[in-house]
Amino acid sequence: MAAIGHDREVTIPPIHLHDTRRRAVVPFEPIREGRAGIYTCGPTVYGPQHLGNMRSQLMADLLRRVLEAAGYEVTHVINITDVGHLVSDADEGDDKVEAAAARTGETVAEITERWTEQWRSDRRRVGCLEPHLNPRATDHIAGQIEMVRTLEAKGHTYVIDDGVYFDTATFPRYADFAGLNLDDLEATGRVENVADKRHPADFALWKLTPPGVTRLQEWDSPWGRGFPGWHVECSVMADDALGHPIDIHTGGVDHIRVHHTNEIAQSECAFDLHPWVRIWMHHEFLDVGGEKVSKSKGHVLVVDSLVERGIDPLAFRYFFLQAHYRQQQAFTFELVEAAGTALRRLTQHAVAARDEVGGDVSGTGSARAEQLRGEFWAALADDLNAPRALAIASTVARDGELGAADRWSLLADFDRVLGFGLADAPATGSGEGAVVDERVAARLAERQEARAAKDFATADRIRDELAADGWEIVDTPDGPTVRPR
Ligand code: AMP
Ligand code: ZN
Repeated sequence: MAAIGHDREVTIPPIHLHDTRRRAVVPFEPIREGRAGIYTCGPTVYGPQHLGNMRSQLMADLLRRVLEAAGYEVTHVINITDVGHLVSDADEGDDKVEAAAARTGETVAEITERWTEQWRSDRRRVGCLEPHLNPRATDHIAGQIEMVRTLEAKGHTYVIDDGVYFDTATFPRYADFAGLNLDDLEATGRVENVADKRHPADFALWKLTPPGVTRLQEWDSPWGRGFPGWHVECSVMADDALGHPIDIHTGGVDHIRVHHTNEIAQSECAFDLHPWVRIWMHHEFLDVGGEKVSKSKGHVLVVDSLVERGIDPLAFRYFFLQAHYRQQQAFTFELVEAAGTALRRLTQHAVAARDEVGGDVSGTGSARAEQLRGEFWAALADDLNAPRALAIASTVARDGELGAADRWSLLADFDRVLGFGLADAPATGSGEGAVVDERVAARLAERQEARAAKDFATADRIRDELAADGWEIVDTPDGPTVRPR
């Protein structure tokens, strides 16, 4: 039993989630009564975060909102990787941020700040709530050195010219999480490798700067100057924020074989516990097919790519909810446009019901309404079945048997997870942005001029200023307008 209505107690089945480690949907059993800690692997801030990356944000946001709606006090931690993520998973090649600085001639700070802001702004535009904590790897270097020292003292490491390595032979469970065959190097994706490693699966905890070289980001350590490995960063930031063990850790399926396998090895050895994480949740990829999404290919598919085509960023949220997070989802602009149309319809119905009853939902609660409410929350409690929940919301929006008060009561309740901002959507018939004041309209016109002059830096600055004032720019076929965020 949990409080999930605004003013009512509704029975919600216990939440069940898919755990990658156990390869099964399992009940969520919090470590601390009534609380839930979530750690989500965040962006590597050397370039734009694309729409695929946004799927990882949307999935974690959905999880957090469902747990909060079910009454848990959630702490959601998403890190920023601003050092240590190498170009290759096999401990070879340069740090991605260092390589970007060498390529563009910009400073590390310029690069990491720009792309951190782009990530923050874009995840907000697709309706994600702010993480409770958003630690940066470079702010946790001392903790990372400490963890490597702990692992060293327990005999899990060895030092070679290239750095300090985790000796996977000292952790017999190493292959279990991802079901790896460690004799099959092709399968582990670690063929290209640092020559002196004892085993190809061993991974860098601390990379040493070669003699005579100065790096843009490096720190002193007991083993010499260098920088931390990507995996150790996440273990330390997660532990600093949430302690151990941890309730839920999320990330993309690409992280299972290397990054999360390594996070588990070092954390379980350092903290002497198993399992370190109760539930590991991994989302499948956004498949962009012919569309270019990769950062290495120049044209990166980002939230602005949608806006340039007149698509509301929240249409991407609706589109995300149309597929289960464990299914791959095929991206096309047409599919997101169609999701935008469905979202507009849902919003119109919701706003019409809201305004008909003046937001007053007293006297609601017909048997049919409560049945639909129960089905909606049951779908989400069943490993976050968003497509089923969204279908119920869409049924409610146009259901002739329900009165307006019931419809608004349900949709306002559902929107705590759907995240479309229905309570603040502009009134029916007044058009988007009807209450825009002159100052905002002037700023919008200035932005249009900047864009026409291809001064995208100014255009982006104005967009961010408007966002800070609570306005989101929405491009429509009649030109851009704004609406409250
Ligand atoms: P990165 O910035 O590369 O460290 O990636 C941040 C997050 O985005 C990770 O959790 C990845 O698993 C996830 N990710 C990367 N590409 C995609 C994609 N095409 N679809 C879904 N998630 C992705
Ligand atoms: Zn991570």
